[in-house]
Amino acid sequence: MYRRLIRDIPDFPEPGVVFKDITPVLANRAAFTALVDEMAEPFRNAQIDKVAGIEARGFILATPVADVLGAGFVPIRKPGKLPAEVIREDYELEYGTDALEVHRDGIQAGDRVLIVDDVLATGGTAAAASRLVHRLGGDVAGVSVFIELGFLAGRRALDGTPLHSLVVYD
Ligand code: AMP
Repeated sequence: MYRRLIRDIPDFPEPGVVFKDITPVLANRAAFTALVDEMAEPFRNAQIDKVAGIEARGFILATPVADVLGAGFVPIRKPGKLPAEVIREDYELEYGTDALEVHRDGIQAGDRVLIVDDVLATGGTAAAASRLVHRLGGDVAGVSVFIELGFLAGRRALDGTPLHSLVVYD
């Protein structure tokens, strides 16, 4: 059901990248409901305290997943967006570096945290999000993504953290 609703946009946002546009999935009520349910499914009995969503498309999926799991929602954002005290992690991109921040009080020591994003590509983003959670004393119970670009081997960057993906492109 999902594959026919995922739209490939070649050369976006830059030449050579095939962007996986999930807006047709989000706009389809049956697909969106199923997607939220399936992303949460393996973690239903995992006593998740917080679902951490990665800016920006991760937010769209993480908030309903948090609701399904009865967990809180914590935003992980690009630098300079969060208003209170933050910690920051830098990570490598193909060209250059990027960074993510989380509020220092967003996660308490011992919290069980599920990280949610739309697409896992090289895994650098999800790995940086995991490091943020660990630095605050949180326990990363898993990473749940809608789409995994298997050919980029992002799973390996997660160092054994359980990864749940609904659609895998090889
Ligand atoms: P990475 O750190 O390489 O795993 O990249 C993952 C992040 O970049 C996620 O937040 C995705 O939203 C975004 N991303 C990477 N590649 C794509 C793609 N082909 N289509 C859509 N989003 C992507």
